[in-house]
Amino acid sequence: MSKTWRPATQLVHGGTLRSPYGETSEAIYLTQGFVYDTSEAAEARFKGESEGYIYARYGSPTNDMFEKRMCLLEGAEDARAMASGMAAVAAAILCQVRAGDHIVGARALFGSCRWVIETLAPKYGVEFTLVDGRDLKNWEAAIRPNTKVFFLESPTNPTLEVVDIEGVAKLANQIGAKLVVDNVFATPLFQKPLELGAHVVVYSATKHIDGQGRCLGGVVLSSKDWITENLQDYFRHTGPAMSPFNAWTLLKGIETLPLRVKQQTANAARIADILADHQKVARVIYPGRADHPQADIIARQMSGGSTLVAFELKGGKQAAFALQNALEVVKISNNLGDAKSLITHPATTTHKNLTDEARAELGISHGTLRLSCGIEDAEDLIEDFERALSAVAA
Ligand SMILES: *Cc1c(COP(=O)(O)O)cnc(C)c1O
Repeated sequence: MSKTWRPATQLVHGGTLRSPYGETSEAIYLTQGFVYDTSEAAEARFKGESEGYIYARYGSPTNDMFEKRMCLLEGAEDARAMASGMAAVAAAILCQVRAGDHIVGARALFGSCRWVIETLAPKYGVEFTLVDGRDLKNWEAAIRPNTKVFFLESPTNPTLEVVDIEGVAKLANQIGAKLVVDNVFATPLFQKPLELGAHVVVYSATKHIDGQGRCLGGVVLSSKDWITENLQDYFRHTGPAMSPFNAWTLLKGIETLPLRVKQQTANAARIADILADHQKVARVIYPGRADHPQADIIARQMSGGSTLVAFELKGGKQAAFALQNALEVVKISNNLGDAKSLITHPATTTHKNLTDEARAELGISHGTLRLSCGIEDAEDLIEDFERALSAVAA
């Protein structure tokens, strides 16, 4: 295996552990445990004196291939595959804090991530502050002597705001805190948080990495030292390990990640432009457009636009519902990153638990829709939108 291969090559070949049978595709090792030739071999394995697997909750060959391939893509030294994106987020945060510590997070977060910081962590005596992550001054002002972790998502769900990752990483380094970045929306292809100074990266592999709607998965990536010192014991003893079957599914998904994300992004860019010119649309937020409010930060830290488009209809909830109901190719679903185009109305689904005021802070109105573009033919998506928009009352 060559570390110098480019990403598309790594994603097809990287991390492959071939059995003596020489199979072309990666094998699925569906086993809970492992056997040892002798008592002495078992003893040496447990002492860490010989290489090898002990129990699937700690690690197993198919998961290992997925973790290694993700490390090559991310430029990380080590990783742990987990059962879902939320298992990964919760582990990345909770494994490194204790009662009396303080977390600073951006307030624009995936709902369950916000729950971990706002509701779960305080139950164990961990304090938090949520800030408007767009302005570095807010991050700086939130720092306390006990701040240990910064957490952010960029671009954010659903309004695709961005946070200056390098700027937040510098603040974290000044006080010896760690920055954890949830990089789902950017995908590992368009943004490299570790290169920008972040200490830990997490993914919901459920999204673009599977990308075909089949299984849940998550992954935490960082330096070898951080994983050994913080995550390893938490991971072994609380049990969020990914199923080897899902690791295999995700390994196959990741082979086509660049092809899918390229097509999804090209489709999203075209739809964003069409929506921006439409008289029934009040506003479009798309990280690939020059009119994105933070286009300067995007140019610095991202190498591509986005597979997602956020937009607001002038006619509010009624128009948003009418558009969703009139779309035929695009399906109504709160998932994202899929080969199928999916659309959701955040105010009544993913963000229904927030007050109108909290939603307004995040730029979500009753007319806001979030589109995740799939890999369909762009012309069919455009026809679908043009037809469905004409069904919306002016
Ligand atoms: C989906 C998602 C998660 C949670 O991932 P699951 O695999 O659904 O547990 C976390 N963060 C972001 C940004 C997501 O989009």
